Amino acid sequence: MDHFLYKDGVLHAEDVSVADIAASVGTPFYAYSTATLTRHFQLFEDALSGLDHLICFAMKSNSNQAIIAHMAALGAGMDVVSGGEYLRAKAAGVPGEKIVFSGIGKTEAEMRLALEGGIRQFNVESEPEMERLSRVATSLGVAAPITVRVNPDVDAKTHEKIATGRKEDKFGIPIARAREVYALAASLPGLEVIGIDVHIGSQLTELEPFETAYTKVADLTAQLRADGHEISRLDLGGGLGIPYERSNSAPPLPIEYGEVIKRTVGHLGCEIEIEPGRLISGNAGILVASTIYVKHGEGRDFLILDAAMNDLIRPAMYGAYHDIIPVVEAAPGAEQSPYDIVGPVCESGDTFAKQRNLPPVGEGDLIAFRSAGAYGAVMSSEYNTRPLIPEVLVHGDQFAVIRARPSFDDMINRDTLPEWM
Ligand SMILES: *Cc1c(COP(=O)(O)O)cnc(C)c1O
Repeated sequence: MDHFLYKDGVLHAEDVSVADIAASVGTPFYAYSTATLTRHFQLFEDALSGLDHLICFAMKSNSNQAIIAHMAALGAGMDVVSGGEYLRAKAAGVPGEKIVFSGIGKTEAEMRLALEGGIRQFNVESEPEMERLSRVATSLGVAAPITVRVNPDVDAKTHEKIATGRKEDKFGIPIARAREVYALAASLPGLEVIGIDVHIGSQLTELEPFETAYTKVADLTAQLRADGHEISRLDLGGGLGIPYERSNSAPPLPIEYGEVIKRTVGHLGCEIEIEPGRLISGNAGILVASTIYVKHGEGRDFLILDAAMNDLIRPAMYGAYHDIIPVVEAAPGAEQSPYDIVGPVCESGDTFAKQRNLPPVGEGDLIAFRSAGAYGAVMSSEYNTRPLIPEVLVHGDQFAVIRARPSFDDMINRDTLPEWM
């Protein structure tokens, strides 16, 4: 459930009319619902109740300062995947001891940043990374707390580009080699082994891959403890999917996911971390656009919007589906007809949906993309010199711009001419 509903025939975000936001900030824009973020975080809190745990919000899904600050106020830790995200978390007031650092390509500069600023743990993904982290930590006179990300060779049954737990994927170390890699970690002076990490992919719509992976992690915990390692923390990653297509999908609920966690690793006496991103932020956001033209093509009608693939790349990049609805609710019984819904960018890939049924749409009409709060604004670009679009946060009957639209001057003046010109 989210807080984007029609009231008096107009789509609202909580108690604010989306049409009013559009009139105030102009289109296109992202709008997020505070109550929805809170609700989704609370679902995970409820799912893990009774376990010693920390929910680390995967900032890569939505890293706006206001979103991070809200999640932190709820008690969330953060999962960061770059030095930039680490600095964003710190800037939003998240203490280092609540930040976990994931990712396969951490640089020396990023390691130093996190070690100096404070870090809960590094989720280490390779032997060379281990050796480098040990060296950097030793040079600073500290020991870096680590988990090793293991790759359990489980097919998450999700989109090719966001599956991460099969043996051919670039992430983690093969679980079969875990014991030798932990032995190496234990021998390195700058590392302090504290646990195990696993993340098998994103937008998982079944629980079985989690169950398989977490069972392997439980077995590994026993083996590593027998080898003399201190395993007191299990980071179980993120990845629980959301219903992008409301009419025909119902992915597992956080409470059911929590039962899998309790059943597979709940008896080990470990502190449990999870790193959800999409499930918290995805359905907490919409993208709102205006219709520039309705173009009658050869056998099909096109809705040409003022939003484009640079604003929301998921359909172009993953063939992703988003529910698309009119901001002004259709009259009851209004006839639907199919449209190809596209942006103005000069690529055929700039298509949000093909032959999507909608009630009649005219020039200037507002359209909303649901489930756009995760991997939306964070993946946007200025391709075609289109300004990054504003982000708006709604809270009850209030709203605020939390990232303003840059001016064209801002964009152009970021470039500089070399001296010789
Ligand atoms: C992307 C990612 C997540 C978050 O995935 P969601 O599907 O958004 O929940 C968590 N942990 C790691 C290591 C990731 O790469």
